[in-house]
Amino acid sequence: MSNGRPTPAPRRPRVGPLVAGLAVLIPLGYAGWLAWDATGGGSASEDDAKRPAAGAAPTHPAARAGARPLAGKTVVIDPGHNPRNRDHTAEIARAVQAGKGHKACDTTGTSTDAGYAEAAFTLDVAHRMRSLLEERGAKVTLTHDADRPFGPCVDERARIGNAAHADAAVSVHADGSAVGNRGFHVILPAAVKQDGADTSSIVGPSRVLGEGIAGEFERATGSRRANYIAAGSGLNVRDDLGGLNLSTVPKVFIECGNMRDPKDAAELIEAKWRQKAARGIADGITDFLAR
Ligand SMILES: [Zn+2]
Repeated sequence: MSNGRPTPAPRRPRVGPLVAGLAVLIPLGYAGWLAWDATGGGSASEDDAKRPAAGAAPTHPAARAGARPLAGKTVVIDPGHNPRNRDHTAEIARAVQAGKGHKACDTTGTSTDAGYAEAAFTLDVAHRMRSLLEERGAKVTLTHDADRPFGPCVDERARIGNAAHADAAVSVHADGSAVGNRGFHVILPAAVKQDGADTSSIVGPSRVLGEGIAGEFERATGSRRANYIAAGSGLNVRDDLGGLNLSTVPKVFIECGNMRDPKDAAELIEAKWRQKAARGIADGITDFLAR
């Protein structure tokens, strides 16, 4: 579904005192980041030939400074679906409260034409994200690690983030859309207040998180924002996802590409591309948490 280009929420003000040393270090850090940005960035209007060769890009500048910028922060990564869901179709079809009506506990997810499953993709990207975020000092929890026969259900996926008091939560997916539909998009929570859900406190920060992830994902992978949803903005607001409706911590989904499109699929199956994807998402989380 297409919601047009959403109105950006105001950014939260930067807080905290700046000591003299930091006042020197921060501009230097930004200068480095911007210099790299100029060589590695790219806008959606550029030709493919001009797009960044996003490969050996450096570590996020906040981490490169030698500090552990995410120390004291908790990140919950939610790998969409579960490789074993396909063997438990009855269990995952059970209806659960999703904050705006009921939804199936979980779904099997999609796959490429050649049979590479979305659930395998999401778990692989989650592992790569975990490594990057832990290097930066974060405490990382996965909602599952293929260590259970199916699920978790979407309501439990949200509750795991809430119980962890996550500073940020990201659900990783890849889409199953028509051939020719290409690119990534980030899904943001809508304002929902019913059936035990209340997203009022997370709509704003989740948008900031999602905008950051979209920008860094674009930079790291060279992928375009999806050409088939949300008017090309790469940011889609939804009120029908239990994993967002029931969250009390800043949370977004990312659909990293379209597994049913052969060109997107050719990227999704590449380990090198998945590393870029993981880095883009981790950089977006770092931008959000290390501000
Ligand atoms: Zn999915």
